[in-house]
Amino acid sequence: MAVSTGMKRRTFFAAGLGLLAAPVVLRAAPAAASGEKAKMNTIVLPEVNQFNLGSFKIVAIRDGSNLAEKPFETFGTNQDPEAVKKLLGDNFLPTEKFVNSYAPALIDTGSEVILIDTGFGAAGRERGLGKLQDGLKAVGYSADDITIVALTHMHGDHIGGLMENGTPAFKNARYVAGQVEYDFWSDKAREGTPAEGGHKTVLANVVPLAEKTTFIKEGDSIVSGITAVMAQGHTPGHMVFHAEADGKRMVFTGDTANHYILSLQKPEWEVRFDMDKAQAAASRKKVFDMIATDKVAFMGYHMPFPAVGFVEKYETGYRFVPKTYQFDL
Ligand SMILES: [Zn+2]
Repeated sequence: MAVSTGMKRRTFFAAGLGLLAAPVVLRAAPAAASGEKAKMNTIVLPEVNQFNLGSFKIVAIRDGSNLAEKPFETFGTNQDPEAVKKLLGDNFLPTEKFVNSYAPALIDTGSEVILIDTGFGAAGRERGLGKLQDGLKAVGYSADDITIVALTHMHGDHIGGLMENGTPAFKNARYVAGQVEYDFWSDKAREGTPAEGGHKTVLANVVPLAEKTTFIKEGDSIVSGITAVMAQGHTPGHMVFHAEADGKRMVFTGDTANHYILSLQKPEWEVRFDMDKAQAAASRKKVFDMIATDKVAFMGYHMPFPAVGFVEKYETGYRFVPKTYQFDL
């Protein structure tokens, strides 16, 4: 008995080591190699995660991530900062800093290769962002393989990658974007307002592609099985996309909720980047109530990578349950 147990343990241990040694993506970042202490979790890029949703192949690609200060100045801005810090601390998170992550998604339906949001593109590269195209290559796709680019909304971290050096980054693609969102950001009336920066980004990145863009509204489909639902507030025309393949469902929630604790547990807390704060809170509740009730998966652009998980109702909000192997079996 003892021998047999020992053998089993050794075999198990060896298998475990093999598993640990196999993923070459986990190695020291250049900063660590040069003797400098790594400042953040050092998973070497490109970071990608692929899985199947029925007959659809989904690839989560991390465009990058960055460190940000004072989470209470972004999330829960209508709350006592101490309450925000307490919620972070209660959930094993630092209270003075946070990491923001950016995750565009690829959906390969078998007949179309759809990209949902584009990351920062060249505008983010000096800051270590804009890695979408490297991520695509890592899983055997190139920018030229993308047939449709769909946009949840038109903030720079979602549309920056549409153009490279003034030319379309995805030269074989057509585009799908919300009519309300486009009308807001492309309007000259944004000049001289806080939205002027966003207006200029849209003039540079989206307006040149307008002739190849299908402008959609609530309930319209991108392709069969992928449908847009308005979830406004973060921006005036923000949308989420429902995907369904072979009875499996997933909602691409864009920026409906942007912190897996602060915005999901406290959906009513105001967020600095939500343009209409009350409407954004209402959209969070609408979208995540449905996701919780229907027990469907979601992918949130700023959720912890691979940005995919589930929620259950918890107190007055939701508890985030990250995906593990649900899609592998
Ligand atoms: Zn965003």
